[in-house]
Amino acid sequence: MNNFIIPSLPYSADALEPVISRQTIELHYGAHTKSYFDNLNKLIADYKLQNLSLDEIICNADGPIFNNAAQAWNHVFYFNSFSLNGGGSPGPKLNKAIKQYFGSFDRFKAEFVEKGTKIFGSGWIWLARDFEGQIFIVPKTNAGNPLTDGLTPLLTFDVWEHAYYLDYKNKRADYLNALWNIIDWKVIEDRY
Ligand code: MN
Repeated sequence: MNNFIIPSLPYSADALEPVISRQTIELHYGAHTKSYFDNLNKLIADYKLQNLSLDEIICNADGPIFNNAAQAWNHVFYFNSFSLNGGGSPGPKLNKAIKQYFGSFDRFKAEFVEKGTKIFGSGWIWLARDFEGQIFIVPKTNAGNPLTDGLTPLLTFDVWEHAYYLDYKNKRADYLNALWNIIDWKVIEDRY
């Protein structure tokens, strides 16, 4: 049977300071994200979904199993988008798509932050591609993930308050704008 294990982060807990503090990493990854994995493993212990991959569970389950599977997936994806030496701009292939669909990298960033800021309550703001390579900004509430729309996720910012409240208090837009400084665009480009 499956037992999903939370992977180690590819950087130390203080690597992303001051954009994301050590305290936030320890709480958000070490406690919140770990809980989603623990809850999912309990929920699927006696369930027919237990031999499916995490992606398959997200696309087939609903209720608490979907919520915990998607939250586990989303957080690993989010935390693996960052690097100590992050920032800058996307590589040529993704940069071309961003210019084609959003006009410029700056306009894409502004629209991404605006749509993330406008999500009411908890959720995730996503950049995703379809099977033809067109890219979209996709706002989702709660544990939502564009995999369920048949899209391939490229980038996501967590807009749950637990992601930013310790470091940015209620200033969600400040947190979202700061994240551009730690994005590992090589990782995002590889997903594209
Ligand atoms: Mn979170």
